[in-house]
Amino acid sequence: PYLPQEKDLVIIGGGVAGYVAAIKAGQEGMKVTCIEKRGTLGGTCLNVGCIPSKSLLNNSHLYHQILHDTKNRGIEVSDVKLNLANFMKAKDTAVNGLTKGVEFLLKKNGVEYITGEASFVSENDIKVALNDGGETTVRGKNILIATGSEATPFPSLEVDEKRVITSTGAIALEKIPETMVVIGGGIIGLEMASVWSRLGTKVTVVEFLGQIGGPGMDAEIAKATQKLLKKQGMEFKLNTKVVSGDKSGEKVKLDVDAAKGGKPETLDAELVLVAIGRRPYTQGLGLENIGMELDERVRVIIDSEYRTKLPHIRCIGDVTFGPMLAHKAEEEAVAVVEYIKKGFGHVNYGCIPSVMYTYPEVAWVGQSEQDLKNQKIPYRVGTFPFSANSRAKTNLDMDGMVKMLADPETDRLLGVHIIGPNAGEMIAEGTLALEYGASTEDIARTCHAHPTLAEAFKEAAMATSSKAIHF
Ligand code: FAD
Ligand code: NAD
Repeated sequence: PYLPQEKDLVIIGGGVAGYVAAIKAGQEGMKVTCIEKRGTLGGTCLNVGCIPSKSLLNNSHLYHQILHDTKNRGIEVSDVKLNLANFMKAKDTAVNGLTKGVEFLLKKNGVEYITGEASFVSENDIKVALNDGGETTVRGKNILIATGSEATPFPSLEVDEKRVITSTGAIALEKIPETMVVIGGGIIGLEMASVWSRLGTKVTVVEFLGQIGGPGMDAEIAKATQKLLKKQGMEFKLNTKVVSGDKSGEKVKLDVDAAKGGKPETLDAELVLVAIGRRPYTQGLGLENIGMELDERVRVIIDSEYRTKLPHIRCIGDVTFGPMLAHKAEEEAVAVVEYIKKGFGHVNYGCIPSVMYTYPEVAWVGQSEQDLKNQKIPYRVGTFPFSANSRAKTNLDMDGMVKMLADPETDRLLGVHIIGPNAGEMIAEGTLALEYGASTEDIARTCHAHPTLAEAFKEAAMATSSKAIHF
């Protein structure tokens, strides 16, 4: 039966997944409610993730460059100082501007925004414990779970966000620590290690695997990245697992085991950053009230149209399958609304770029060499170093390379891996080429402006399909 108060779509979570779905559904003329408990919109990404971390990465790079990379450019600076409070304020200004912008967009698209914690009472009814006190209920014809993720805790080392921190603590430190051990050399570990190492902290990254960068990074690129980060002062312990921790003393102590026959040792640091991955967040959601299923990694189980076992309840973003990335959540948000409204949608999971915003940046899309080897797929490789690119040389910024992988028979592009200045912007070109099924010759025959870093992208394609000109 039609209930007048029933919404076409009730969205739980106002992160990237939730707020983008809310805007899209509003644009499609649906009656939408978005429930968020944080008090601000934008979720992890805008409040404590992508955005604040990129502010700190950008400004710490600038500071580091002013200190160490000006003399050879004929620029003399003196009396350079860091004001950590203002450095953090710049981050907060960026965050506040963007989260308020999202609130404006929800309003503009007619979305009802409720601040409070949502939980399922029944398959269509949601109770909201309002942030301002009291309670309300919302009924949805369709419901979207978009509750995101949280940092995976490290057993035996309780997070206090002061001495044992997650990324949330790492973007809000009030003083520059002397020493920091980072558990986990994935993207969060390396981005945060970069920020604090540039500001003067002695950082050691302990990584369980034999390479840094987390899942998906091409091994050759990961090795090159590690070399450059080491040159910047970071220390690495690979093939090393942190097994336990103790924060009862003046310093935080970590027991580590070297995987390949090395000796166990104890590390200590003023501060320890736990960056061993993130896990789906469904606490307090009352999923047990509707018999919702989670898999062994506590992800909400969905089908290819984001439907849970209850077809009117769908789920997207970090809380379910796939890479935990904001742009992946955003793609899914548009697609899920299209599935609800029109019955079809589209996300190409083979074509989702990854970017690590260290210096230089590392970016990739499609398959890595290991992926192809594991699947016994034949491939051809072409590379082009930034040291042979005129713009990189002019900018005195020559570390890194572009690497392409292509099918040896059809020349179809299979993967792009970049380490170098502006790799995060350049990967968009690789993503577009991959999405359109380009061959490397297609890219090689496309005119690129001179002098630009993007010419290295074209020349890597030339190196893959025939020969580069400048190397
Ligand atoms: P979230 O952003 O986590 O949003 C979920 C929201 O739901 C939260 O605000 C939460 O408060 C709310 N919620 C949960 N339960 C309830 C409930 N019961 N009732 C009401 N509200 C609820 N990704 C990138 O692509 N690029 C980056 O550069 C990048 N940098 C990152 C840096 C850091 C330090 C971290 C931690 C993450 C980063 N990510 C980055 C990952 C990115 O933040 C996530 O992939 C993205 O936020 C996922 O969006 P989401 O909407 O699924 O979840
Ligand atoms: P991750 O999975 O990328 O990396 C975690 C690393 O920790 C892995 O390399 C793992 O081998 C290692 N590890 C786990 N247990 C360990 C132990 N006991 N001792 C030593 N090493 C150990 O996870 P993350 O870096 O925490 O990031 C979480 C998510 O957030 C990722 O999905 C990432 O994509 C996303 N994120 C993205 C960006 C970006 O796009 N720029 C930035 C930050 C976070």
